[in-house]
Amino acid sequence: MKTRSIKLYDTYQAKVREFVPIEEGKVSIYYCGPTVYNYVHIGNMRPVVTFDLLQRVMTACGYQVHMISNYTDIDDKIINKALEEKKSEKELSDFYIAAYERNLHDLNVLPLENHPRVSNYIPEIVDFISTIMDKGHAYKADGDVYFSVPDDPDYGKLSKMNVDDLISGSRIECNQAKKSPLDFALWKVTDDQGIKFDTKLGLGRPGWHTECVVMINSYFHKPTIDIHGGGFDLKFPHHENENAQNWAYSGAPLANYWMHVGFINLNNAKMSKSTGNTVLAKDVIAKYGGNVIRYFFLSTYYRSPINFSLEAMETAKAEVDKLQKFSESFQVHFCLMPMDKTDVIFQDYYDEFLGYLADDLNVANAITILEKVIKEGNKALRNSRSTAEQLYKCYNTFSKMIDILGIKFDPKVVCAADKKIYDEYLEVKKNKDYAKSDELREVLMKKGIL
Ligand SMILES: [Zn+2]
Repeated sequence: MKTRSIKLYDTYQAKVREFVPIEEGKVSIYYCGPTVYNYVHIGNMRPVVTFDLLQRVMTACGYQVHMISNYTDIDDKIINKALEEKKSEKELSDFYIAAYERNLHDLNVLPLENHPRVSNYIPEIVDFISTIMDKGHAYKADGDVYFSVPDDPDYGKLSKMNVDDLISGSRIECNQAKKSPLDFALWKVTDDQGIKFDTKLGLGRPGWHTECVVMINSYFHKPTIDIHGGGFDLKFPHHENENAQNWAYSGAPLANYWMHVGFINLNNAKMSKSTGNTVLAKDVIAKYGGNVIRYFFLSTYYRSPINFSLEAMETAKAEVDKLQKFSESFQVHFCLMPMDKTDVIFQDYYDEFLGYLADDLNVANAITILEKVIKEGNKALRNSRSTAEQLYKCYNTFSKMIDILGIKFDPKVVCAADKKIYDEYLEVKKNKDYAKSDELREVLMKKGIL
């Protein structure tokens, strides 16, 4: 299948670039997943929905998408909470992974190819760190292993940070063993009560910044993937540190395109677990359902911040209700007046719609095309002379478009009893029995059939 042109904003080069895959027709994507010690807040789901949209758009553009995202199941926060709750780290993280996966399901996120967990990659992480040490870019200090940041001539280029400014801006840390204040831990030795691994690097745990690089290298079997991403807050230091390690390990950049998704603010302040300014994803999903949240996320350009508010959710809900009503009115029509199904679409509208999405996920413009299709559809539905082809063309185009946006409705079917009421309604109307037809009309309207 021939692929369509796609443009993406690349944080590294700070511009929108034509997407050129490493391997023709294929795309490898990794985005950083959650640390599973708590229910995630709604802000955590924005990158997830954005990358899900990217997967759908790239698939529609003819690419075979290979996308994975990790679970950080080794972390001090997990250890502390597990101790507090008298559980093992595994019990705790399994519980929150299951909760997170329910969110993915409710938000209609397509299954990922894999969800690697750090705890399954310890031997690979140890080998990776050992190689960097052998190459002279990591060193032991007080038993811990640190990455030597000043070795990487490109450090800071991804996040547009100046190394000298970072050094002068860093506080004098209590750990005097580090050669540079920017150096970060790859392996931390410990004999605390938390989960730890007895390895050639010592009894301890890996640092957070190493896991993603190792999982990318191990899963994709290549030093550079097409797209790496996550929330804006991961740009520095996390992604900068990941990229520096990959440079030290293989001399290659970790990704050809870096995509970062904007924050969600709550009451105009950044939503964050540490400040307590949060709304849990599961609570918002329970209140509004997955479609409304997706629409709320997607209606703003993914790099811009958005503000979570009741009004914004109500606006998104009104838009989703319109889409659902449109979809159901067609389904009811096809139930009441069965006609030969065809798979024709408005190719021009579809191409235009996909073209906008392929232009760095411009959902707002794509929605204007969806609205044109809805307008055509409503016109066709009102016209009693519309052919099956005309009606299906609208409905099929609409369905394909909302599928790419990841909006999904339960199918609406008209049961035999309701169909009988509808036939009777047509009959009495034909016989000019207005009182009876009004009565039946009301019944049908209540059922959402008219
Ligand atoms: Zn990561």
